[in-house]
Amino acid sequence: MRLFIISELFDKPEKITKFSVLPDVGLENIKRSIDKYSLIMAFPDFDAVKSSLTEETGKAFLIYIYSADERFTQMQIKKVRTTFETSLSPLFVRLEIQKFLPAVDGVYKDYSPEIAEKSKTLWESIRRFSPNQYAVSMPESRQINYIRYLLSRGMEKEDPFIEKQSKTGFFYPVAHLILNSNLEGEEAEQLEVLATRKVLAKEVQNKTSLCPHCGYYNMVIREVCPSCGSVRIKLTEFIHHYSCGYTAPAEEFVLDDRLVCPKCGEELKHIGVDYDKPAENYVCEDCRSVFSEPDVNLLCLNCRENFPPEDILSEPVYSYSLTPFGKMVGYEGKFPISLLEELSVKLGITDYNVFSFLVDKFIKISTRYPERKFCILGIHFSMSDKAVIEFPVRVRTFLKDLIEIIKENIRESDIMSVYEEKLLFILLTETPPDGGKTVHDRLKNQIETILKKNNLDREISFSSSYRCLPDSTVKTAREVLQTIIEETEDGTAV
Ligand SMILES: [Zn+2]
Ligand SMILES: [Zn+2]
Ligand SMILES: [Zn+2]
Repeated sequence: MRLFIISELFDKPEKITKFSVLPDVGLENIKRSIDKYSLIMAFPDFDAVKSSLTEETGKAFLIYIYSADERFTQMQIKKVRTTFETSLSPLFVRLEIQKFLPAVDGVYKDYSPEIAEKSKTLWESIRRFSPNQYAVSMPESRQINYIRYLLSRGMEKEDPFIEKQSKTGFFYPVAHLILNSNLEGEEAEQLEVLATRKVLAKEVQNKTSLCPHCGYYNMVIREVCPSCGSVRIKLTEFIHHYSCGYTAPAEEFVLDDRLVCPKCGEELKHIGVDYDKPAENYVCEDCRSVFSEPDVNLLCLNCRENFPPEDILSEPVYSYSLTPFGKMVGYEGKFPISLLEELSVKLGITDYNVFSFLVDKFIKISTRYPERKFCILGIHFSMSDKAVIEFPVRVRTFLKDLIEIIKENIRESDIMSVYEEKLLFILLTETPPDGGKTVHDRLKNQIETILKKNNLDREISFSSSYRCLPDSTVKTAREVLQTIIEETEDGTAV
């Protein structure tokens, strides 16, 4: 296990072979463990670690950020986890950074042999994953690494962390770093995509209020004048003069140290006899309107729009957990797109346009030479979400069985294609109608059997149909394929 120490106390990358190289600030245990390590490297920054990572370094290293500086530590954690190559690497810190706690593997004041032990265990579980070779894009590779981080750390789920810097007031530290989202909080969009793909399941943990114009949470609530919207409103004491009926803010009655009615000029002496004080009211300093209840209005500090409270977007904040399907995606390192995609790869499937072109050729041949008979079989599959999410392993076994029985039933010369990822076409060359019926019925029975065997008969349904040619009513490939598509889609299959 190679030990990489990152500290602002080092000024350049250096191999540590002597105690004297170490700054005199703790790291007593490192001094003691120098002999046990083939390589202890000191780095001033993660960028230096990155440029020294080679094939030879392999996967047996750990990174220990040895710093008491909060900003430095935070920056280094971010760099390690957002760098694709090290996003799963064992990472330890000296200083606890609360918001990134789930993104590190431990907090240690000084180097401890426990760090090496933990790293060994982590590498063992990381090595169990298949190489990430199927991911088609960098975002997808990052998504797979995110799942793998949760799996290797034994984290069943990621909870939202309250963070005032975030757009929504919440963020997901591990997802934010590994998925490399721009702003804290924006990673929620990617988590939602993973939830749509059934990789993650979500559960409401909290709620947030967002600006309807820009989606930020930073808003202030203000009481304003209902007539003109001004914030210059004042809660004011009022006086009601009995004899003339005049009612106005108390300050209008004040004359030196007496109370005099500004309308009739009479002096007010006794409360309850000359005058009384009705309930307090608001006065708008801009438009002078008087009201008992001000309006409530919100001002967004991000986009500066203002709007009434009923326009606020109230959004649930979720925690996200891995589904059994998500775990399978993590271990295998790929997202299966559909049931038939798997078949396409394993069975050698012809592109649908090419297939359609070939069917046309076969129709032409059989029209000219009626003894050259052939049949086209269609099997339409539909799978419930539950099967994808909860029984991915059963679905996988079913697919293996399905591939087996298809291989048993077809010959080298038969041609297969997939239509819209759910309908499997098999062109049985040189096959008369009774032969076509035999293959169709046998496949149908065998599929029913393997569905029952894998306990998926309620989660996956299929319907099948076939046509044999030449047939005087059919002229083109389009016609015959369309007939089969329709028959298998609306369930009027044979
Ligand atoms: Zn006003
Ligand atoms: Zn008066
Ligand atoms: Zn806004």
